[in-house]
Amino acid sequence: MRSSAEPVAAGPATGTDAWRERARRFAERDLRSRAVEIDRSDGLPLVVRQGLAREGFLGLGIPPRWGGQGGDTRATAAVLEELAAADAAVAVEVAVHLSVCAQPILQAGTDVQRQRYLPSLATGERLGAFALSEPGAGSDAAALRTRYRRTADGFELTGTKMFISNAASAGVVLLFATHDPSLGHRGISAFVAPPGIPGFSVAQRLEKLGLRGSETTELVLEHAVLPPDALLGPEGEGLRIALTALSGGRVGIAACALGVARAAFEEMRRNVRADDADWRRHRLARAFAQLEASRLAVAEAAARRDAGREFVLEASVAKLLASRAAVAIASSGLELAGATGVRSGAEAERLFRDARVFPIVEGTSEIQELVIARTLLAPPDGRTV
Ligand SMILES: Cc1cc2nc3c(=O)[nH]c(=O)nc-3n(C[C@H](O)[C@H](O)[C@H](O)COP(=O)(O)OP(=O)(O)OC[C@H]3O[C@@H](n4cnc5c(N)ncnc54)[C@H](O)[C@@H]3O)c2cc1C
Repeated sequence: MRSSAEPVAAGPATGTDAWRERARRFAERDLRSRAVEIDRSDGLPLVVRQGLAREGFLGLGIPPRWGGQGGDTRATAAVLEELAAADAAVAVEVAVHLSVCAQPILQAGTDVQRQRYLPSLATGERLGAFALSEPGAGSDAAALRTRYRRTADGFELTGTKMFISNAASAGVVLLFATHDPSLGHRGISAFVAPPGIPGFSVAQRLEKLGLRGSETTELVLEHAVLPPDALLGPEGEGLRIALTALSGGRVGIAACALGVARAAFEEMRRNVRADDADWRRHRLARAFAQLEASRLAVAEAAARRDAGREFVLEASVAKLLASRAAVAIASSGLELAGATGVRSGAEAERLFRDARVFPIVEGTSEIQELVIARTLLAPPDGRTV
């Protein structure tokens, strides 16, 4: 993806404000003017991916020891929010790469796996993907049907993965499969592999309502052969690894939704004047309150994760609030803009379509509510809510 001759511009890990500023400048200079072009393509332009790599964004959260930029959850969330405020598809590509591909390798991988994959993920030489969902297993991931069996050479995987972000361009894919569906979650294991393996193919690119520039594909595994060291974490621990990754990932996706909500708010603000009718000013006020609630929720979830505290509840609250705020503000803003807002290519129209995807991706709103209710009713050890 990136020519190795191009240096990564980012220095060692800096604070959240510095990362935010770097992302804001990049978004203004290199993304905003390309948003319509990206929306009309089914993958990001090479120049954008090279820019993301050059700025160091693809190494966030990966320790310098493994070739990354360091940076905590707050820094990552700030970068994702800024990228999403200019182009949500770009931000989602980065969020998936960092949160649900690099992080699980960092947390569950062996040193050999970390050394093999993390430096090249951090520089953007490889893009990361996470393949859990299947045609019959989205919210209920434990129902997945992709099978694996041990062979003399390692593992053989067969099945279909659906709605997988980044996979068409990925250099590393996490795969989840069961060796016996009747075992439920206990049968599921995680694997990490480069996609070039025999039997692995991208069956189709899926067109979507929003986040159109972020590639989403169907993957087919037909007796795909993985070496023994492709197993990520202990056998049977795959679902736990996936759900842990998704909890962290939700903070990042919430930050992306916050960026969309902010962009929609800014667009709405341009259309409301101090002497406008009350109902228009009330819409602006309501949007601001939703935006602020989301901002606080994302900040709280990120801060708790950085402090090593329980954050699953807060991550779900942040994802729920920020994705709902994005939809509500983008929808309200579209109405305030009148007919110009619904013209193809208008910012309000794109924000509305992009916002609509956030209540679904990385766990629907109903699943966030389930997580919240479960935590409230049976708090994990030592946690008070
Ligand atoms: C743009 C995009 C990118 C994605 N990228 C990835 C990726 O990179 N990797 C990956 O593995 N997956 C990815 N997904 C898949 C995503 O995680 C799933 O779409 C999501 O988990 C929902 O699953 P589903 O689409 O099968 O819907 P379903 O699970 O069929 O849900 C349909 C509806 O039923 C509701 N519902 C389901 N179960 C319950 C319940 N128990 N209680 C209450 N309501 C319920 C849901 O909330 C929803 O409203 C992506 C999806 C999108 C749209």
